[in-house]
Amino acid sequence: MIAPPTEALIREVGPRDGFQNEPEIISTDDKVAIIDKLTATGLSRIEITSFVRPDVIPQLADGAEVLSRVQRREGVSFSVLIPNRRGLENALAQRERIDEISVFLSASETHNMKNVNRTIGQSLAELTGVVGDARKDGLRCVAVISTSFGCPYEGHVDPERVFEIAGALAEAGASEIGFGDTTGMANPLQVGEFFPLAENALPDVQLTAHFHNTRGQGLANVLAALWAGCTSFESSFGELGGCPVPPGSTGNVATEDVVSMLEEMGVSTGIDLPALVECSREMQERLGRRLTSHVLTAGPVEWADKA
Ligand code: ZN
Repeated sequence: MIAPPTEALIREVGPRDGFQNEPEIISTDDKVAIIDKLTATGLSRIEITSFVRPDVIPQLADGAEVLSRVQRREGVSFSVLIPNRRGLENALAQRERIDEISVFLSASETHNMKNVNRTIGQSLAELTGVVGDARKDGLRCVAVISTSFGCPYEGHVDPERVFEIAGALAEAGASEIGFGDTTGMANPLQVGEFFPLAENALPDVQLTAHFHNTRGQGLANVLAALWAGCTSFESSFGELGGCPVPPGSTGNVATEDVVSMLEEMGVSTGIDLPALVECSREMQERLGRRLTSHVLTAGPVEWADKA
């Protein structure tokens, strides 16, 4: 058996991917309190919010206020999700509080149309411009490609098509590409075959995996990606999150489940697992409903040892 890598990088996306998919709008005070707690867990990257139209995603209408109020902490990179040029302009009003931006589109036409009401070509035309402008402002850019491993409307998505879209964004200045399994359709064999191809097609960019646990295969896919050379992951504390279309596309893979698995395997994440679990526990209380991550339910392995 090949040895696992010694380190992996995790970007926490719960405050964006998670909060935007909650049926009830979380108060600004609650968002700020929980993000401040998350940034004290050793997480080095966190997606704070998204600069979307408030009538489209009312759950993140307070994005600018959240960004202005959360505590900046040494060694923690803040990113925001940007849907279009207007979003970038709004985000740049707080340029000093942002290190990175993420832009997104889907690899399948139908999902992109249902999600952002544009063709992939229209999205690419705008987003390559957004990435170019953001780079001029010194921001690092991440491009996230949804439905990279399958589309609920079109089925199979050709990896070559994914790499073509990724290549256009890399050429525009994105230094990292995130491959999203937006509706939880990936399987570990497919993921294991995907990443070596991706590395070949996109040699100069950082590759990141974004898995959803919609069908319980999130961790298996993380492991498959890890064995295939991917060491950068996006995940969401408490297993919060999902996708607006289609309905029922719930649950990013939980950050605490990923951290627990990696650390138990000797892969360092730099994250204090009990502190992270405490964030999910507090979130659960603030939401008033049970969150579904395994480690939140069972506790970290070392706690069981002490009992
Ligand atoms: Zn997601």
